[in-house]
Order: sequence, then structure tokens, then C-alpha cells
Amino acid sequence: MLLLVFAHPYPDRSRANQALLEAVRGLAGVEVRSLYDLYPGFDIDAVLDAILVEAAATAGAEVRENFNVNGLVVENGAVVGIRHGDTVERARIVIGADGRTSHVARAVEAQEYNTKPRLQYGFYSYFSNLPVDGMETYIRPNRWLGFAPTNDGLTIIVASWPYAEAQAYKANVEANFLATLRLVPSIASRLEGARREAPFLGGAVRGYFRKPFGPGWALIGDAGYNTDPITAQGITDAFHDAERCADAIEAWLSGAKPNDEAMADWQQERDAAVMPMYEVTSQIATLEPPPPEMRELHAAMHGNQEAMDGFASVISGAVSPVDFFSEENLGRIFAEPRQPVGQPPLVERATSSGLLPELESIPGT
Ligand SMILES: Cc1cc2nc3c(=O)[nH]c(=O)nc-3n(C[C@H](O)[C@H](O)[C@H](O)COP(=O)(O)OP(=O)(O)OC[C@H]3O[C@@H](n4cnc5c(N)ncnc54)[C@H](O)[C@@H]3O)c2cc1C
Repeated sequence: MLLLVFAHPYPDRSRANQALLEAVRGLAGVEVRSLYDLYPGFDIDAVLDAILVEAAATAGAEVRENFNVNGLVVENGAVVGIRHGDTVERARIVIGADGRTSHVARAVEAQEYNTKPRLQYGFYSYFSNLPVDGMETYIRPNRWLGFAPTNDGLTIIVASWPYAEAQAYKANVEANFLATLRLVPSIASRLEGARREAPFLGGAVRGYFRKPFGPGWALIGDAGYNTDPITAQGITDAFHDAERCADAIEAWLSGAKPNDEAMADWQQERDAAVMPMYEVTSQIATLEPPPPEMRELHAAMHGNQEAMDGFASVISGAVSPVDFFSEENLGRIFAEPRQPVGQPPLVERATSSGLLPELESIPGT
């Protein structure tokens, strides 16, 4: 058996590569693996992906690996199936769970709204012999650092710069990465015995919401909505989205709601659930100092374990910013004795300063 690993971003435009592929495809004993087809976003999470594939199969899904969707089948303005090479598969609904570079989103020209530009440029790598006790993050002027334990005894370190400085960062990744780590002196001693076990990977992503449904199609996860990874919400959001979408489809197929109503309800629920954190994340991802009101809040929380836990829970996605930044909760935090004498009323300032997004302004479809 000969395994041919093929990588070309636009094979359709390359006559030489087309000829090569045509020559080998179908030959006995030759298997072609096209990396751009298999990993269009070049995001490969081997451990989690394997768990999810197994869970899907156990739950009764028919899993086909190494299966690239090359196009959609559209009839009378509605999506009725997908194409895979010469094969056509028909379905009542095609769900694009195909990530940021979603082929389905492009094919149906899904409308975008509430977009954000790329805000920070992060490089990360994995280190052995660098024990950490849970997640650690450090904020320095225009810089952000994150450490977290991962599988196989490895620790991931992420060091981010503002997107405006991406070119300077990329000019010498290793030196700039290490210089960023040196901004936290307590890290230096721990790095002494550590070893980098993987190449540096880096990038920046923009934020967007896409209308996630139309005639015969739906978009879930990153295909329908994406936020900067600095607060690590994406996987949780994608799971919630899949669940809400499944509920909407069930409501439609069971006859409980017409298709448009069920899907529009899902879009509204998704947007209401993620929009507050989307705004908080986007603010953090600028790597600019927090607004004065947020700094006052940080100062007020200092030493108040319950408040600090609550704030950390917002960043982890376990508590909604809407609940944490509610007048009642902020009132409790600022009412603690640590509040400096003479502070003007806290809640007005916190809520009128852009700490929270205007929830009413979530656009529709
Ligand atoms: C640098 C970085 C760091 C991140 N860190 C975190 C983190 O720490 N925690 C967190 O929760 N989130 C993180 N995220 C976000 C997270 O990776 C995504 O939100 C999450 O993976 C979205 O899941 P998904 O299934 O929607 O899309 P993806 O994980 O992108 O999966 C899409 C799948 O579709 C497949 N596919 C694409 N096109 C086709 C096609 N035409 N035919 C067949 N298959 C196709 C792809 O191969 C891929 O397997 C990070 C993102 C980035 C960029």
C-alpha cells in the first residue's frame, strides 16, 4: 500500500497537481490523503476529536471519517443534500458543523452580523517538565500570558500580543515569546527545567455571528458563530449550540413548530446566550487596559473570595456576565468594606460604561 499525502490549498487551479491526482486516484494499492480536504481549518485536536467520534458512534450516528463535503445540492432554492466527489447524499436538512472556514456557510452565503476584527495574535506551544497547578493567566501592558495543564503531562503556554503588533511578533517568534514570559519574573525559575515539545503555532481569528439557518441548511459551532479564543469559550459554545439546534429540529420535525419559527427561536437563544461573553471576550482580547469602571471592580473584588470566584467563573463561561454584572451582584461587591470612601454609586457607572453590551441591540436576521 502506498500512502500519498497531498497538500495544496487550491488544487483545482493547479494543472500539474490535477494531473498527478488523476493519475494516482483509483490505482490499486494507492491511498491519497489530501490534508487541505481533511483539515480545512488546520485545527486538529487529536484527543478530543477521537473521544467525540467514539461518542457519536456509540450514540448511533453513522460516522464516516476522511469524508470531504465538496459541495451542496440545491433544488428550487433549498439545500437538499451534499456532494462528495461524484456521490450525492440527500437529506431533509444539511448541518454545517464545519468550523470557521465553513464550506456550507460559504455555499449558502450565510449573512454575517456583529463582526469584530482580529484583536490579538497569540503563539502557543507545549512544554514538558513544567508543572502548573490549574490555569494561570497574567496580564501585562499590551501582553497576555496563559498556562494550563493538558494531556500527556504537557503544559500549554500561550503568549499574546495585540494584532497590530503581529508582524513584529512573527519576525522572531521564539525570542518574542520568551521575552513575553520574562515579564512575569516568578515564571522564569519554573521554566529552567522545562522543554518545548512542539513547534510554535500562532494566529488570530475574527469574531462573527452568521445567520445559522435557511431553506434546508443550518450552521452550528464555529460555522455559525466565532469569538476570540482568549477566554476559551468555543468548545463549550459549540456543544450548547449543537444541543439547541437539535432541539429546534426536533420541534420542527415533530410538528410542534413550523421550521422557520423553530430555527429563528434557536438563533435568538444562541445570540442571547453568547452575546454578553462575546463582548467581554472582545474587550479582553484588545489587550488594552480594562475600562476604569472594570479596574474599580477589580479593586473592589480584591480579597473578596466569593466575588473573585464569581469573576473567574464568568471568564470560564460557567457564570453568565449578565448575572455577574447585575446591579444586585455589583451592589453586593461594592458594598463590602473594601470600597474606598467617597466612591460614587457603583452600578450606574458599571452599567453605563460599556462593561456589558446593550443586550437589546442584538440584531435579528
Ligand atoms: C488558537 C485557538 C485556540 C483555541 N483554544 C480554545 C480553548 O482553549 N478552549 C475552547 O473551548 N475553544 C478554543 N478554541 C475554539 C475552538 O477550537 C472552536 O470553537 C471549536 O473547535 C469549534 O468546534 P466546531 O466543531 O464548530 O469546529 P471545528 O473544531 O473547527 O471542527 C470542524 C470540523 O469540520 C471539518 N470540515 C471542515 N470542512 C469540511 C468539509 N468540507 N468536509 C468535511 N469536513 C469538513 C474539519 O476538518 C473539522 O474536523 C480555540 C481556537 C483557536 C483558533
